[in-house]
Amino acid sequence: MSDTPDDCGPGTRLVSAGRRPEWTGPVVNVPVWRASTHLYADSADLAAGRPNADGHFYYGRRGTPTQWALCDALTGLEPGATGTLLYPSGLAAISGALLGLLDAGDVLLMSDNAYEPSRALAEKLLAPLGIETRWFDPLDLEAYRAAFCPRTRVVLLESPGSLTMEVCDVPALAAIALQHGAISVLDNTWAGPTGFAALAHGVDVSVLALTKHVGGHSDLMLGAVTASGEVHGRLRERAQLLGQVVSPDDAALALRGLRTLGLRLERQTASALAVAQWLQGQAQVAHVLCPMLPGAPGHELWLRDFTGGCGLFSFVLRGRSVGDRARLIDALRLFGIGFSWGGFESLAIPVDPQRIRTSSIWPKAGWAAEDRLGVRLAIGLEDPADLIADLQQALDAMDRA
Ligand SMILES: *Cc1c(COP(=O)(O)O)cnc(C)c1O
Repeated sequence: MSDTPDDCGPGTRLVSAGRRPEWTGPVVNVPVWRASTHLYADSADLAAGRPNADGHFYYGRRGTPTQWALCDALTGLEPGATGTLLYPSGLAAISGALLGLLDAGDVLLMSDNAYEPSRALAEKLLAPLGIETRWFDPLDLEAYRAAFCPRTRVVLLESPGSLTMEVCDVPALAAIALQHGAISVLDNTWAGPTGFAALAHGVDVSVLALTKHVGGHSDLMLGAVTASGEVHGRLRERAQLLGQVVSPDDAALALRGLRTLGLRLERQTASALAVAQWLQGQAQVAHVLCPMLPGAPGHELWLRDFTGGCGLFSFVLRGRSVGDRARLIDALRLFGIGFSWGGFESLAIPVDPQRIRTSSIWPKAGWAAEDRLGVRLAIGLEDPADLIADLQQALDAMDRA
């Protein structure tokens, strides 16, 4: 079942991924194996041990068919991958990847558009361990090239960037890292493996917050790291040293989410595009930062490299105050106010990337000095006409004040 030919479409691969008959038995889905102890036949069996590879019962921390099936599914969806490791959250996957690859004395190059907790991890955990982080503007390839030093071991990329949504030339950034002997790690949560084939574009390690699209129902925290060859082996060893394991119930929820991922992403992408197009025509909106939108920053690169979009994008208000923006967000009825995204329900939050940025990227991405107040929308599965009507009444409410 999981041996689906690579030439099948993404929907077909999502349906069959990880469903090996030896794990599913006669039922459709892999059962939830709750287990700590795995019993051995006798003392000789115990003494013989088990190979340290997925697919062999040993002890609960090395997983059961439920976790193996999710790993197998995610590996199968990423062309060129050797294996996948699971972590209890997306952030744990990022820290697992970085702690798995970096040692004291190494330098990490981190894209200036990275997810904010990745920055905090660098400053508050990696720095005290003797790992130095330098930030770079991912749209400035020459400055990026110049930022490498002999101690640069890892590059952390994100595309599109959190909050500001700039699409980066990931193949070029990964190729430059390779020339300098550095390992490239991409936070690929926005597009996922069906929207951006990370390893096929030259990236060494792909990180996903499964919490977002794969879970898809706002009821799961989980992360994954997919890599190939030796890099995967090293990450796997360190994940075991750190004692990383996820619950089989959570793995089963992620597997359930995978089956409908294609359908949800298709709908959310189409709805996001409809909402983005409408927002572009509103006088109160200065910029719409949505890679799927023709003419938006990064659209050409998105067309070149991506095979799908999603419901997450930002827009910037034209010359408004913080109070105006709060009134707009508070007037929304269908959009919840909250972190995370990728669920079936729409969300809105204020975004102020200039607060955390250290390089000059954000003005270049379309944020002028007077138009700085952003709103990030996660478009869910509601009818787009209803979402547009909700935004219309909220913009009206902002103007009336
Ligand atoms: C949410 C998110 C994460 C972290 O995932 P959690 O499961 O919430 O820890 C990492 N990267 C990006 C881009 C995210 O949006």
